[in-house]
Amino acid sequence: MKSTIHTPYGRQCIEDDDIAAVVEALRSDYLSGGPALEKFERQFAKKVGARFAIACSSGTAGLHMASIAIGLKFGCKVIVPTMTFLATANAPKFTGVEVVFADVDRETGLMGPEHLEEAIIRAGNHVDAVFLVHMNGQTVDLPAISEICNRRGIKIVEDACHALGGKYSKNGTWYKVGSCNHSDITVFSLHPVKSITMGEGGVVTTNDEKIYRTILSLRNHGMTREPHHFEDHKAAFDSDSKANLWYYEMSRLGYNYRPSAINCALGLSQLNKLDKFITHRVKLADIYDTFFDSKDPSICPIPRIPYCESAWHLYVVHINYRMLGITRNQLMQKLKEKGVGTQVHYRPVHQQPFYRRFNEELKLEGADQYYESCLSLPINPSIPLGKKNIEWLRILDEFIK
Ligand SMILES: *Cc1c(COP(=O)(O)O)cnc(C)c1O
Repeated sequence: MKSTIHTPYGRQCIEDDDIAAVVEALRSDYLSGGPALEKFERQFAKKVGARFAIACSSGTAGLHMASIAIGLKFGCKVIVPTMTFLATANAPKFTGVEVVFADVDRETGLMGPEHLEEAIIRAGNHVDAVFLVHMNGQTVDLPAISEICNRRGIKIVEDACHALGGKYSKNGTWYKVGSCNHSDITVFSLHPVKSITMGEGGVVTTNDEKIYRTILSLRNHGMTREPHHFEDHKAAFDSDSKANLWYYEMSRLGYNYRPSAINCALGLSQLNKLDKFITHRVKLADIYDTFFDSKDPSICPIPRIPYCESAWHLYVVHINYRMLGITRNQLMQKLKEKGVGTQVHYRPVHQQPFYRRFNEELKLEGADQYYESCLSLPINPSIPLGKKNIEWLRILDEFIK
């Protein structure tokens, strides 16, 4: 029997004004680049409090460009928490580095300073960069981690694909995720399940002008049309020293990671709704927490980190399936038959066949335990508020009485 999911764990929220913005982009002179891209990047940078924002074709493309921009290449070592989506490890791996996986907290799924330090020792104390993951929308302890990294000259890239709209604090000061106050680069995804969407797309933020220029170049084939960058003057300029109209130069190996103007128009329209969407997610999370408080102790929401305001990308509970007398797959199947979508985020990346062959002996207990019990329940701005309106809670109730 085919079942339709009426309440998926995550989905986009597209309204009439988003559709109008996309239609307007389609009628404009630019379908790639142009004012929609520039405006989107300007407003995104302002929203997260960074100097520069570069939009690109996906979060993965953003992570790849970040890897190159901080100088990663064959022979480098990079630490990645194993509890994340594949792309956090794959993107630096594209540059030929060795990926050293770090463990995470068994309850929150976050890599703590102690996990980072253990991984640095395991890497032989030679580490070039760390890719942090703000799992589920809660942030890692950035001030503590950046202290460890600054002492050792380790570059920091934040994979904030779960955390657009989140904040963290240190000594009473609040920082927005993406402001790069404790990192070199932050990368966001605007895939449909994330805080806001541009269909497919990503955004990279940084405060470093050199990194910014490098990423602009990597996004567009490593080519430039700016005369003051030209190296081959004889080929570039006419006899009256005017740059030849057809001329461009390629100085480094680059990619085509540009987003279309259509995607940027959608991203810009959605950016205006970020606060509204996050508020909605916070309210849902509060309702869920209250619901689980009064329920069977075999289901526990992940603990809330006190120093951060989560973006609530995912609402994760840990379930003792044995106590509940049902396997995870059976529970997911039963919920699916009732139209409720759930998901497991994630199988630890070091256990994937591709990575396992580099890590045969590796055992990361915190991640293993997290993975055994976690389940992501539906949270997204399309789910109506109010305890009475949340149909899927009643459906779940039947299984956990
Ligand atoms: C979604 C996601 C990505 C990849 O983003 P894409 O836009 O799909 O390429 C990377 N890391 C994490 C943690 C993600 O959730």
